[in-house]
Amino acid sequence: MEFCPKCGAVLIQKRKNFGCARCNYSSKDKIKISTSEKISEKSEIGVVTGKDTETLPVVAEKCKKCGNEKAYFWTVQTRSGDEAETKFFKCTKCENICREYR
Ligand SMILES: [Zn+2]
Ligand SMILES: [Zn+2]
Repeated sequence: MEFCPKCGAVLIQKRKNFGCARCNYSSKDKIKISTSEKISEKSEIGVVTGKDTETLPVVAEKCKKCGNEKAYFWTVQTRSGDEAETKFFKCTKCENICREYR
């Protein structure tokens, strides 16, 4: 149970959050609507598609799929700046892409 920080009355559940029945205080905390909030998981990797590989440097990286020892290489900075950047390798032969976290 939560109480109003303004007048101490018990907060009641309103449409999208909690609010006070006595004064007009309403909680900023939204009621947990655990819907599909996990959106950004895929968009991070989405950078791979349409990447112009011809401008990318080729490094010696063994492909786990076909054994080719050359791969295009690029890095992607994840959304929060304090996270380490992710390395991407794309096999020059079979175009298999793998990621590497530091
Ligand atoms: Zn109140
Ligand atoms: Zn390969």
